[in-house]
Amino acid sequence: MLNLNPYYKNVSENYLFSDIARKVNAYADQHPGEKIIRLGIGDVTLPLAPAVIGALRAAADEQSAKESFRGYAPDLGYSFLREAICENDFRPRGCGITPDEIFVSDGAKCDVGNIQELFTRDTSVAVCDPVYPVYADSNIMAGRKITYMKCTAENGFLPDPDSAGDEAGLIYLCFPNNPTGAAITKPALQAWVDRALKTGSIIIYDAAYEAYISESGIPHSIYECEGAEGCAVEIRSFSKNAGFTGLRLGYTVIPKSLERGGSSLHAMWARRHSTKYNGAPYIIQRAGEAVYSPEGRAQTKEQVAYYMRNAKLISEKLTEAGFTLTGGKNAPYIWMKTPGGLSSWDFFDLLLEKAQVVGTPGSGFGACGEGYFRLTAFGGYENTLEAVERMIGVFG
Ligand code: PLP
Repeated sequence: MLNLNPYYKNVSENYLFSDIARKVNAYADQHPGEKIIRLGIGDVTLPLAPAVIGALRAAADEQSAKESFRGYAPDLGYSFLREAICENDFRPRGCGITPDEIFVSDGAKCDVGNIQELFTRDTSVAVCDPVYPVYADSNIMAGRKITYMKCTAENGFLPDPDSAGDEAGLIYLCFPNNPTGAAITKPALQAWVDRALKTGSIIIYDAAYEAYISESGIPHSIYECEGAEGCAVEIRSFSKNAGFTGLRLGYTVIPKSLERGGSSLHAMWARRHSTKYNGAPYIIQRAGEAVYSPEGRAQTKEQVAYYMRNAKLISEKLTEAGFTLTGGKNAPYIWMKTPGGLSSWDFFDLLLEKAQVVGTPGSGFGACGEGYFRLTAFGGYENTLEAVERMIGVFG
């Protein structure tokens, strides 16, 4: 017998960004020579930091000599990288995470999409609305039902922990948030942890944008919260803090004390990792280690500052021109209300047609995103300025 997975029919036919690319390409074909400015997809544009490039070159040289050649990487990742992660991302923040609780991977997206495999099909799942599509789609593909937790202007785009329901389940949280740019305070995140500990839920905490936090009082890791080792998995990426979207590197933290029904999630993920995954490349892990060197830290910090200058520019100029927006302070995303009550896609089409600027329709992230539009700060400064001026020219 052979049956295809019927649940694939329950996700939309295309990934949001494929739809956008198709529309933009069609417009470009019809209007050759027009300059389109893309503030849509969340991809970085600055080249890799010199410290990262140096490490890549040195590691490539090592691979060319018999004595220093390396083949398959250790299952969980090289210890030089896992130690650097602990030393820099967790110890200074008082988190008791140890290197053997870190699983290195080739990026956050696959970990975020695959983690649901550890749970049965009848596990309940709660995600924010609007949502980074992977959390919802990966669970829908596995046949799970989803509870959407509303994030609206009224609740400051922060869902109420009560909206996850009373029973134990999987809860996906992403802070600083993609797409709304919202950040969560430590007491507010602690309330989620307390609730998960009470209900037996597990929080999948996506901290891909942690490097963009600029305000104090905003936790960089969920493990800054009391008791989080007993209810949370944290997923991180090198994509946005160090420009690794093309190189590919990320990691997942699963505390050894995280257990449900007598089973260790750490042991299960380790088993899965060793069965289905052969590790991020050696040269990329060396490049990741270089991100934590003094030069690497300084250079990548500068890159983040460059993007956040764009975020400030977008926020200030569009606010001045009368647009209603949020985000952009602790995240590279600006979440904007569409002018004149336009639907998200109508605004997308109009903006492309009249200003040749591309953003992301909020409705692509969920029902609560309807009437909103996401702009990203990942463009070049001059292009970002030009895009904002064009927008103000048309809609201001
Ligand atoms: N998580 C969030 C919230 C993201 O926005 C993204 C990328 O846009 C990712 C994860 C994916 O990160 P990576 O490039 O490491 O797969």
